Amino acid sequence: MVNRDGFIAILDELTQTLKQMADDGIRGVTGSPECLEIVGRWGRGRAYAPPAAAETLEDIRAHIGDCQRCKLCHSRTNIVFGTGNPQARLMFIGEGPGQDEDRAGEPFVGAAGQLLNRIIEAIALRRQDVYIANVVKCRPPGNRLPQPDEIAACSPFLRRQIAAIRPLFICTLGSCAAQTLLNTSQAVSRLRGRFFDFEGIRLLPTFHPAYLLRNAEKKREVWEDMKLLMKEFPYDTQRA
Ligand code: URA
Repeated sequence: MVNRDGFIAILDELTQTLKQMADDGIRGVTGSPECLEIVGRWGRGRAYAPPAAAETLEDIRAHIGDCQRCKLCHSRTNIVFGTGNPQARLMFIGEGPGQDEDRAGEPFVGAAGQLLNRIIEAIALRRQDVYIANVVKCRPPGNRLPQPDEIAACSPFLRRQIAAIRPLFICTLGSCAAQTLLNTSQAVSRLRGRFFDFEGIRLLPTFHPAYLLRNAEKKREVWEDMKLLMKEFPYDTQRA
């Protein structure tokens, strides 16, 4: 129950937000999918923010350059920046490149990637509809977990990719991505099965496809997660 002061505060915020949108040149708050996408971000931890001078994925890649910011640079073949639709409404985020990805310079192209492709098809999307990235962009040797200093050096670039793409949904694959973005130490098995808020974006943790290759019985839970996503995903609208 909102009291009178609370109600007035909400109205003030709404008025400010609408005025700000008008000042920013946004016209016609009509209930169109574009408007609903903007309005839908209100009250989810991020009030409407005026569009900043947008940084593109190319800008971010250029800033990464021939990165030497952490020790993973010594053993990598390629920086695996990310791939897919720069306007994607859904981003998948894994942990870090494996051997196949290190060679190809593209995320999720090995066995786990084949399974991810099938998951994407199962939710009636295509790989080129979504954007796929990792917490770290260089392969941890021997497929070990990325270490805290490596995640600290690299994850700001992931956050900038998310800000450039502005997806409606993020699906994190495995513990590393969920823990990094949600700033928690909880395991994915505790986090999966529900949405979290990541800066106004709905974030759904699920198991990593590589884990599913070793634990086929967990596929059922991933399918449950994908059904949650499908229920909310705006298949029939164009992106603003
Ligand atoms: N596992 C990941 O987390 N990312 C990849 O790109 C490939 C395998």
